[in-house]
This record gives sequence, C-alpha cells and structure tokens, in this order.
Amino acid sequence: MNTVILVLGASGQIGTELTQKLRLVYGNDLVIASDIREGNAEMMTSGPFEIIDATDKETILKIIKKYKVTQVYLLAAMLSATAEQHPQKAWNLNMNSLLAVLDLAKDKHIEKVYWPSSIAVFGPTTPKENTPQKTVMEPSTVYGISKVSGEFWCNYYYEKFGVDVRSLRYPGIISWKTKPGGGTTDYAVDIYFKALKDKKFECFLSENTRLPMMYMDDAVNATIQLMQANSEDVKIRNGYNLAAMSFTPKEIASEIKKQIPDFEITYKTDFRQQIADSWPQSIDDSQTRKDWNWQHQFDLTSMTKDILENLEKNQ
Ligand code: NAD
Repeated sequence: MNTVILVLGASGQIGTELTQKLRLVYGNDLVIASDIREGNAEMMTSGPFEIIDATDKETILKIIKKYKVTQVYLLAAMLSATAEQHPQKAWNLNMNSLLAVLDLAKDKHIEKVYWPSSIAVFGPTTPKENTPQKTVMEPSTVYGISKVSGEFWCNYYYEKFGVDVRSLRYPGIISWKTKPGGGTTDYAVDIYFKALKDKKFECFLSENTRLPMMYMDDAVNATIQLMQANSEDVKIRNGYNLAAMSFTPKEIASEIKKQIPDFEITYKTDFRQQIADSWPQSIDDSQTRKDWNWQHQFDLTSMTKDILENLEKNQ
C-alpha cells in the first residue's frame, strides 16, 4: 500500500519545508498539506491542500478517508512565547489536536503518527548542560506543560493501544524560507534578515543566553528519518532528544560579522528571557544517534553561510 501523508499545520515555519521535502520523497499527490490558512505559492500549487482545523476530529477523518491517508504529521500548535499570552487557547490547541490524531490511529484509520515535542519539556530544575534523554521534566511554561503532557499521551497510546507514534524534542529551529511563529528562539531567524536589511539587530535575549538550535534542513531530515526507521529501532515513544549546535546571541552575531563586518547587535530583554533561562543550554542526543543513526550536518558557521547566501540570492 502507498504511503499517503496528511500534514496538519503545514503552512507554518517547519510545515512549509517539511511538506515540500515529503512531496519530493513520496510524490506530490501523496502528501496532503493542510492548515487553517493557506500556505505559500509553492505549497498551494505543488500538491493537494485542504483547510483543516487540527482539533476537528471529524474533518480530519473525512480527509483521511478522501485521500486514503496512512500517516499524519501533526505540526499545528501554539508556540512558547505566544502560549504565555494565551494559556487556555494554547492548551486546547496543543492537547485536543494531539488526542484527536492519537484516537484516529487507535481506531486504525491511520498507521503512523508524527508529533513534535520540544526542549521546552525541560525546566529550571533540569540539568542545563548535556541534558540527558531521561531526566527531570518540570517545565515552567504553558507550552512546556503541553509538550510534556503530550509526550506522556504518546507513550500511553503506544503502550496501551499499540499506536505507532514517533516524536522528536526539537531545539530552536532556524530557517530562512518561512518566518517562525512565536517561539523563544525566533531571534536567531530574525537576526539574519535584519543583518542583511539594516545591518543592525535588537535582540530580546541577553548576549550570553545559550540555547540548543538546529538548521531547518537537519530538522526536516531527522523527522523523515525517524518516520522511516524500523519500528523496533524506535525505542523511545515519548520524545527523542535531538541536537546539532548551541550558541548565544553574541556568538551568532560574531559569526554574521565575519560576513557583514559592519553588523551591530544590541540587547533589550523582554518576557522571553525568563522562558529561555528555564531551558537547557545543550542536549545529549546520544541515544537518538545510536537507535536510528541520526547525524546532523550543519553547525553555526555552515548554517550562517548557507542562510546569508540564500537570503542574498532571493532578495
Ligand atoms: P508555526 O507557528 O510556524 O506553525 C504552526 C502552524 O499551525 C501555523 O501555520 C498555523 O496556522 C497552524 N495552526 C494554528 N492553529 C491551527 C489549527 N487549529 N488547525 C490547524 N492548523 C493550525 O510552528 P512551527 O515552528 O512550524 O512548529 C511546528 C511544530 O514544531 C509545533 O508542534 C511546535 O511546537 C514544534 N516545535 C517547533 C520549534 C521551532 O523552533 N519552530 C521548536 C520546537 C518544537
């Protein structure tokens, strides 16, 4: 049977690039993009698109039947910074969408589910450096609470009902094609746009705030690799730690300065500083690398070069 994929929340930062890569791998017509808003022109013209509210189980089921969908990638969510402003809405979206999709898998309408977790599952009491796979998870944000709860639900549906659900704890994801949607690591995307346009950037995190990050290409590849891994190799069913690099605003700024020497960064922290301070500085993903051979490709230097080249070309 063909793999047919439905992506919920496809028009966002990760969905935009993941959907296009999935279409390349599985075929344009076999990857159905969906969101509550339209995606970019490439997404809308390269394959099927449906407007779907990810919390609306009946509509999801209707679309699953219409296209004979076998796998759902659930990317719709409210991210860390926005969730602090709208806690109840964030909880409803992040939890109800996940439970709807897990139920559809439990009832055998689909075979496999992908749902991203986040380093936000960790909190101020978690060891900050080389944060292990299994450690204290006491998040202090609404977003983190929804992600840690989601992880427990995924594991429960796997253990209790045999649902094949897979998950990664993404670090901050850096991209240049689509702007991010309200997270605490968004500065590390914005900084490249402003560096090229204005040669200056005001950062909402302090200069030495170190956070785990990853280039979009690596995040997309990790996601597809995990979903293609043999079931017996996927030993963790709550969420796999995933890492590539860690840096501070000062370090990314000095990397940019190598290519744009008159670039200037200033700092004016806001409520997002507190969120960032509650998260790990680096992640130990050795089990992920061992279980299904995960390897990242981009570090801060190669990512910066790639982003600045692409932004210059596409401006
Ligand atoms: P995003 O905010 O850019 O995109 C989310 C998409 O969901 C948007 O297009 C939005 O329109 C859509 N959406 C909102 N409500 C919806 C609803 N009710 N039904 C359907 N769609 C709806 O987010 P993203 O950065 O692409 O994140 C995708 C996933 O990855 C989320 O689960 C997020 O928590 C996780 N994640 C992202 C990062 C990151 O740095 N971007 C890091 C860790 C985890």
